[in-house]
Amino acid sequence: MPEFVTFSRNIFIPVTNICRNQCGYCTFKRDPDHPEARLMALDEVVSILEDGYRSGCTEALFVLGEYAEEVTQYKTWLSDMGYSTTVEYVEQLCQTAIDIGILPHTNAGILTRSELKRLKPLNASMGLMLESTATLAAHRQSPGKEPDKRIRMIKIAGELEIPFTTGILVGIGETADDREVSLRTIADIHEQYGHIQEVIIQNFMPKPDTEMEHVSPPSKNEMMEVVSMARQILPDDVAVQVAPNLIDPYTLIQCGATDLGGVSPTTIDWINPEAEWPSLQKLKSLVGEIPLRERLPIYPQYIQKRWYSDLLEGVIRSLADEQGYRKTSGFSDDQSDLPV
Ligand code: SF4
Repeated sequence: MPEFVTFSRNIFIPVTNICRNQCGYCTFKRDPDHPEARLMALDEVVSILEDGYRSGCTEALFVLGEYAEEVTQYKTWLSDMGYSTTVEYVEQLCQTAIDIGILPHTNAGILTRSELKRLKPLNASMGLMLESTATLAAHRQSPGKEPDKRIRMIKIAGELEIPFTTGILVGIGETADDREVSLRTIADIHEQYGHIQEVIIQNFMPKPDTEMEHVSPPSKNEMMEVVSMARQILPDDVAVQVAPNLIDPYTLIQCGATDLGGVSPTTIDWINPEAEWPSLQKLKSLVGEIPLRERLPIYPQYIQKRWYSDLLEGVIRSLADEQGYRKTSGFSDDQSDLPV
């Protein structure tokens, strides 16, 4: 059993749900004429960030569909807001989060080297799920899910020394061998660049009105096998993460998981909106006797190596303790607890 299990307190901000891909399991993406299609306005984001800050959150998780600019209506929305590219808008959002005292973590799908270079100084860490190295039917209408493209971006993030989150999605049509290849690929990339701070082992959840609504999710035993394999394959300095709103984490911790990802007191999981985040009290009960430790979106080893820009220095110093975990928050129990 690990000495402790970590989590971060985040604010999930679905900046846009317009996406060029069409994955067989997705309920996040919206077509531009759908009533729920959106590009969030800056003042809307500010209000969510301030609310999260008051609730003790340290991480602004900016999530975007991939290359929404390939959709004409989206480009009009963006230019109406005064921005010429998504990355320019995300830069503004990240700076706003930093000004409020929160550390940005952006996951915008595939980004180019120059886009990553622009966002690196404004992000404590960034992310892109590898999902799988296999070519899968679930991704046949998703050009951005070609494994080589994702592997390339994860490597570029390594060259740029961006603390990075990736992961695999379990149960979307891949075989057990595919999972092993995916994990070995991530391990190899980390051996080369040293930037993967955590690998999410995420269980697929079938959703109504999607192509994969009748596909069974992975069983608990399958998840235990994958988490055990991940712990065996991945280098020791890479955390294995499971999502406590998608699966009971206790047995998976026994298999090698050491992180529970971002949990939010103020926002929902927009990718799995049916799965509520556990409250802090519930999280404690889920891990039983194992202590919980709050971390930031940048792991301690990357704070020590100073893989962050001067722009983030003040916020990191105000939030991190001497070991690089979250300082005792200073918030009262009521304010710092997560919703029950
Ligand atoms: S890339 Fe993400 S947002 Fe886009 S369709 Fe696939 S799962 Fe949905």
